[in-house]
Amino acid sequence: MLVDSHAHLDMSPFTCDLGEVLERARGAQITHILSIGTDLASSHEAISLSERYAEVFAAVGFHPHDAAKMEEADLKEMARLCRHPRVVAIGEIGLDYYRNLSPRAAQMEAFRRQLDLAAELGLPVIVHSREAATDTTSVLSEWASRTPGVRGVLHCFSGDLAAARRYIDLGFFISIAGPVTYPRSGRLAEVARNIELDRMLVETDCPFLTPAPLRGQRNEPAFITHTVEKIAQLRDTTPEAVARQTARNAAALFGLPDRKLCPASARGTS
Ligand SMILES: [Zn+2]
Repeated sequence: MLVDSHAHLDMSPFTCDLGEVLERARGAQITHILSIGTDLASSHEAISLSERYAEVFAAVGFHPHDAAKMEEADLKEMARLCRHPRVVAIGEIGLDYYRNLSPRAAQMEAFRRQLDLAAELGLPVIVHSREAATDTTSVLSEWASRTPGVRGVLHCFSGDLAAARRYIDLGFFISIAGPVTYPRSGRLAEVARNIELDRMLVETDCPFLTPAPLRGQRNEPAFITHTVEKIAQLRDTTPEAVARQTARNAAALFGLPDRKLCPASARGTS
């Protein structure tokens, strides 16, 4: 059992061979993949993939890059999409002060509105935060203080151990992606080595962030095994133990149903 908690299966690099990509994921023992929305169109696409493939689940949301184009009607449509049985989270949402593709005020507004929606619907959130730790922490701690029970994950975590601990104390999980396998991953390796395994998720963020030794290729869910192996090495445990516990964590956070690996039943709606 292995869960890729963050993938963008709707993106164009997967248009031609998604069936084969998912076949390889099954071969790598992956039981669940979350396909993450970045705007309304990709959220719709994530849902339609989740209807076609039994291992795919969807998250809907506006990425901070796309925050400026989120309108009132979009939030209403998002709320409607969240009632779909295959939607398990709101995301990805958050703040990106590295690329600043939307103005910061628009990012903040979209982040807060989507957090409120998640609280209202009782859904967990998938948070993107880049070069924005101070504002992310203050928004999330304010939100957590008035919405008991509803939590989420800091996806593709890139902060230091102290920041990871602050999010964990607020009730969040920390998701580790491919960069932990890179040569200069010191700070992230420290996080992966030291946080409690029962607060960790793993992800590919594919088609981006291909783990070593496959850098240069398109990333895909099956490659998550390289990230899991690296985490196991860092923690002096087995890849199976990391896979099992992070899968349990993801199942608990997102309310994922049990799935046995069975290629014959892997297609079709459920
Ligand atoms: Zn992403």
